Amino acid sequence: MDYVKLINCMRCGMCLPACPTYKETFLETASPRGRVALVRKLQDGELEQSERLLEYLSLCLDCQACASACPCGVNPGELVAEFTCERKDGSRLGFMEDLVLRKLLPHPDRLEASMAPMRLYQRTGLQKLVRTLGILKMFPKPLERMEGLLPNLPERPLRQVIKEDMPAKGEVRGTVGFFLGCVMSLIFSDASRATIKLLTLLGYRVITPRNQVCCGAPNMLAGDLAGLKEAARKNVDIFGGFDLDFIITDCGGCGAELKKYSHHLSNSSVASFSNKVRDISQVLAMHADELKLLLKPLPMKVTYHDPCHIAHCQGIRREPRDMLKLVPGLEYMELENADACCGSGGTYNIAKPEMADLILHRKLDTIRATGADAVVTGNPGCLLQLKKGLLDHLPQVKIMHLTELLAQSIDA
Ligand code: SF4
Ligand code: SF4
Repeated sequence: MDYVKLINCMRCGMCLPACPTYKETFLETASPRGRVALVRKLQDGELEQSERLLEYLSLCLDCQACASACPCGVNPGELVAEFTCERKDGSRLGFMEDLVLRKLLPHPDRLEASMAPMRLYQRTGLQKLVRTLGILKMFPKPLERMEGLLPNLPERPLRQVIKEDMPAKGEVRGTVGFFLGCVMSLIFSDASRATIKLLTLLGYRVITPRNQVCCGAPNMLAGDLAGLKEAARKNVDIFGGFDLDFIITDCGGCGAELKKYSHHLSNSSVASFSNKVRDISQVLAMHADELKLLLKPLPMKVTYHDPCHIAHCQGIRREPRDMLKLVPGLEYMELENADACCGSGGTYNIAKPEMADLILHRKLDTIRATGADAVVTGNPGCLLQLKKGLLDHLPQVKIMHLTELLAQSIDA
């Protein structure tokens, strides 16, 4: 860890009001400033690593709202994540971590096969029965949470059905690689289908290499730096085989991780890969005039939730809003604290359900106040978290990916 990043904190506290866990607890140990101090003392050997201290650090969502607020360029969330990674790396992964991070995620076929029982569970009506009878209450809490978050799965993962090479429609503008995130392919395939449709309509040939692997963000979350580097090397090699103008993703979490590959591996092909990565909203914004010609009226009241991985990690805020405002007939409502985390945080909402629920409820209150018919966002973690939250508490409000809404306007 770069020690300078730690000592840059001047303890001003400007990050505190931005931190979702501080807002809920008012505890210094659950604040960005407190976390930087803890990591520094642990690094200096002034504090011994204890379960209690590590528990304080694990309450951080790595949402990076603190980084956006810090005037000194300190990124407490990233420092906590790096500290966790360095502490854990090289040590043995637990059985479940090893299974998911090393045996499933790097192998899309296996990952997809592992979801087949869930698809069967939904298709046979068993899910409905289990939910109606409340049987899941008898299972461990994390399992109950995971089941509750699971929306209806598509018939087949998008990776299996999408053409690897989709030609541009009309005048050809260029060739892009599409990074299809695991969750987008397995769960939100309609959104990624819409992304590819928009890109081809705007004149891009879209290459979606079928052998691409998970971006490595779950490895980073679990402190498995070696696994992350392995994923990065594979993806850089695969996409490096094509002559691409951009590498585009519609998954905020993947985009943030792909852009950071060059922090973890230093060679020119990794840097060139990371430099080409764009969130879909960035590319759509480049072609706003052409996109506008394709959009038809969609009379809806819509608000936008900034995913942490798009707003704080990639600094993208204007582009998605601008795209929504292009849709004729759409009434755009700004959400209060739109860039405050929704409590998803990768697997945070399963690992820390109480805190995740508190954070989610704050978000739902702001959504309710807009009176919107739909919330638009750009990250599968937020889609999962808000879908469940809205279903339980604001069932009249829909949740959509940005590209789904734009495609709906094109087809209207
Ligand atoms: S992390 Fe930044 S904003 Fe927070 S206390 Fe330190 S210097 Fe201030
Ligand atoms: S990353 Fe988020 S939860 Fe963690 S310290 Fe920063 S603002 Fe707080």
